[in-house]
Amino acid sequence: MEYLGDIQYRRSREQLRFREVHNFRFLGAEIDPALARIAELSTGIFDVASSMILLNDGTTQHISARAGLAASKMTRDLMSCTERLVAGQCLVVPDASVDLQLKDDPLVIGEPSIRFYVSVPIVSARSQVIGSLCIFDTRPRLNFPKRDQENLKSLARLVTDQLETKRLSETRRAALCLNRTSPDAILHISSAGTITYANRAARTIFGFEKNELIGASISILLPPRLQRKMAAVVRKFRSAGTEFLSFTPIESTGVHKTGGEFPIEFSAGIWANAGSFSMGVIIRDVTERKRREASFEMLFDRNPIPMWIFDAETLDFLSFNDAACTLYGYSREEALRRNALDVRLEEERDMLRSTIMSFGDFYQSERPGIHRTATGQKIRVMTFARRTRHADRDCVVVANIDVTERERALSELASTQIFLDAVVESIPSMVFVKDALDGRFILLNKAGERLLGISREELVGKTDFDLFDKDEAERFRQADREVVALGKLVTIENEPLSTADGIRSLRTQKIGVPDADGNQRFLLGISEDVTERLKVEDRNRHLSLHDILTDLPNRLSFQTCLDQHLSRPEGFALLLLDLDKFKAINDSLGHHAGDELLRQLSKRMLMIKGVDDILARLGGDEFGLIHRGDIGRDSVRQLAETLVSVVGQPFKIENRDVSVGCSIGIVIKPEHGTTADQLMKRGDLALYAAKAAGSSGHIIFEASMEEKADRERQLREELSSALSKAQLSLEYQPIVDTTSGKIVCCEALLRWRHPERGRISPAEFIPVAEASGLIEAIGKWVLQQACREAANWPENIKVAVNLSPKQFSGFELAATVATVLSQSGLSPNRLELEITESVFLTASEENVRLLNQLKTLGVGIALDDFGTGYSSLSYLRRFSFDKLKIDRSFVADLTSSQENLAIVRAVIGLGKSFSAVVTAEGVEDAAQFSVLADEGCDQCQGYLLSRPVSGSMIAPLLERFRYQRVSR
Ligand code: C2E
Ligand code: CA
Ligand code: CA
Repeated sequence: MEYLGDIQYRRSREQLRFREVHNFRFLGAEIDPALARIAELSTGIFDVASSMILLNDGTTQHISARAGLAASKMTRDLMSCTERLVAGQCLVVPDASVDLQLKDDPLVIGEPSIRFYVSVPIVSARSQVIGSLCIFDTRPRLNFPKRDQENLKSLARLVTDQLETKRLSETRRAALCLNRTSPDAILHISSAGTITYANRAARTIFGFEKNELIGASISILLPPRLQRKMAAVVRKFRSAGTEFLSFTPIESTGVHKTGGEFPIEFSAGIWANAGSFSMGVIIRDVTERKRREASFEMLFDRNPIPMWIFDAETLDFLSFNDAACTLYGYSREEALRRNALDVRLEEERDMLRSTIMSFGDFYQSERPGIHRTATGQKIRVMTFARRTRHADRDCVVVANIDVTERERALSELASTQIFLDAVVESIPSMVFVKDALDGRFILLNKAGERLLGISREELVGKTDFDLFDKDEAERFRQADREVVALGKLVTIENEPLSTADGIRSLRTQKIGVPDADGNQRFLLGISEDVTERLKVEDRNRHLSLHDILTDLPNRLSFQTCLDQHLSRPEGFALLLLDLDKFKAINDSLGHHAGDELLRQLSKRMLMIKGVDDILARLGGDEFGLIHRGDIGRDSVRQLAETLVSVVGQPFKIENRDVSVGCSIGIVIKPEHGTTADQLMKRGDLALYAAKAAGSSGHIIFEASMEEKADRERQLREELSSALSKAQLSLEYQPIVDTTSGKIVCCEALLRWRHPERGRISPAEFIPVAEASGLIEAIGKWVLQQACREAANWPENIKVAVNLSPKQFSGFELAATVATVLSQSGLSPNRLELEITESVFLTASEENVRLLNQLKTLGVGIALDDFGTGYSSLSYLRRFSFDKLKIDRSFVADLTSSQENLAIVRAVIGLGKSFSAVVTAEGVEDAAQFSVLADEGCDQCQGYLLSRPVSGSMIAPLLERFRYQRVSR
């Protein structure tokens, strides 16, 4: 330990010496003339051969001066003798040849044969040995008295003084140079307060000339408060009695020659000087710095961006601007007690620390970091940091941009984007986006991938020319250009597209999408694959124009065809065909059989028709044929006859032979008309006439049909007011019991007395009333009228009222009958309702139900005109009639026609077996009456017994029948 301590001591001593020597380093490089004179002086004074001044340059000793014979270089031994000298010592070697250490020294053995050697240390003002002064002689000298030693030491001190003088003059020169170049004002002030020195900067800063400053009072440069401060410092210096007192820089103001004040930084030192004192003053003009500080304040403190400055080493906040205080919720004082880590999350602090250490001049966070506010709320912040010097420290100035809201908005935007993407992706139509300029695909959705059979990765970047053949691509490109030029949504229907699955039809909507500058930058397209839909539409169109059952054109397309043919000059024949008694087939065999018949029938007709003819099913059992080519009457008749006969051939349906007839109405263009309406109407009239003629056949239109139709139309118009104008009335025709010859019932028959036309037959106007719907009101009136009248008759006389099948259409019939009965007071069993078979032609189930309702009321139901209609006995099974009325057409020939007699006989038999009363109509002569009576017919009605008479005539008639017997 001691050894180590010794080394340390020596090392520190060496260091001190080194520093001392260093101060004089610049002196030792050359032989100094002043030192040479001292060497010469030493040689002379001590009468020696040589003297030498050695100076240590930190590592070795150099000869700085010499005199006499002295060797040009020193030996190590001699040197080390001097090196060991300490301040105040004097090394005296009387005879080196006998000195243990020096006797072998080359300078002793050889030239210059040193014998006598004295060395004294050269000691600096701070008592450091910086070299040595040596004298030599070639002769030994046994005595070197104390006085001489002291003299040599004085000479060594002279060397020190010389060195010190030189050093001071150098320092002074350096100081002056420094003063001249300093940007700060440097002033020397005497104890009296006058300026004794002012550098160049002092003159520029304060605006004075040199002669104006030197000798002037320092007070001309300083404001009173700074003068007072100086005075206080001087007082302190005096009372303290120290050598030197400095005061740390203070900020104050300086006074310019022009009187203006400017900010300064003032520092000064006072030192004792020959019983008084002097003062050195350094004044720094900080105008610029203040300006910078002010702008810093502007830029920093009041910057709307939250900013702070922290010490790069301690991370303590040094400044915290207003915006940062607001954002982080700290007062400035609170903030300045914290450091840069405090606003961060625990887990991010290490990273932050290392970032602060490692970043260069500038740092910018790549993504938002999480900061904590005073309340602990987390905010997302982008940071921008720059290293800076602030308040004499290495600092970091940081700007913090709160992106919490923006990020939230962005994430909302992102989620909106995701939503939109999802929508686009799940749209079943192809969605694509192209670059409007070069036509390259930018986007394609899943449906588009499926349709084009290409993945979007493959597609993006390609143009239509990479995907489709040249013509197709050119077509797409052209369409795109038009869309972009138009700047509006464009819809392209049925746009063909070649795909692996063949040509598809697209319905494409395209629109240009502008960029921020309003230029059409993109082209957005949505293509719906409408191939299937078009097929369905085609099918629907076909269905809408064709009949499902027969696949023939329907009425709609027939009309279109008709219009088309009418627009051409050629003539044609229009045949309207209606099946006879088709309803009966449907009813008896079922709809399925009816359908099958229609199918087979249309096939047959298709084979008959001409190649250019058009056959259509116009409705139920109604067909239309447009026949072209030879439209001469004979030719057309021929065709019609063929049709009638072909249709008339039996059909094989469900293994049964089924026959049906048909009637055909014919019109010819242009003979019978030139408009569709006209031709169809006239064709209908002809058909109507053909039907009316009964049994299958055809009729060509004639003008009289139209006249008849016109009359019917006129009647219809007049009939509607006939009731209110009291033109209608009832007549009653008695029905007589065959056996007793007494009147048992009277049939009410409607009469219309037209003011101009006179009496109009019900056979003519009833169908008109039925066709126009007037029958309901009229029928009700008849019922009321008849019941009211009959209520006055004797109890045993019934009244029969005819009911049209049309009166069955409403469901109120039973209710109406009940009301009328109760209003008239007629007993229900005195009312007989006559219906015809046609009631069973439509909605027969419903009508049977209605009939039963009527029967429940107690009303009798008679089947009128029995034998004329379809004469299906099934009616009799479905409803039990109270009466059967044999049609007068059978009665007329009764006496001459065996056939009719057979029918009458059969009906009478039927009536008996169903317990129905049988009445014969149209009994005009006694012979008929006689046959009927013989056959057992219950009742007779006819002119023989009485014509229909007015209501007022019934009473006398009854009176007459009381006594009159029917003559046979
Ligand atoms: P219908 O029900 O068969 O009525 C009997 C028709 O035969 C009546 O003709 C009557 O005048 C006529 N007649 C009676 N006896 C003879 C005769 O011996 N010889 C001939 N040749 N004819 C005879 P009308 O009054 O012209 O009535 C014709 C048809 O009009 C009626 O035939 C009936 O179907 C219908 N009709 C008459 N009145 C009404 C009514 O109020 N309502 C409805 N729905 N139909 C009515
Ligand atoms: Ca009748
Ligand atoms: Ca009748």
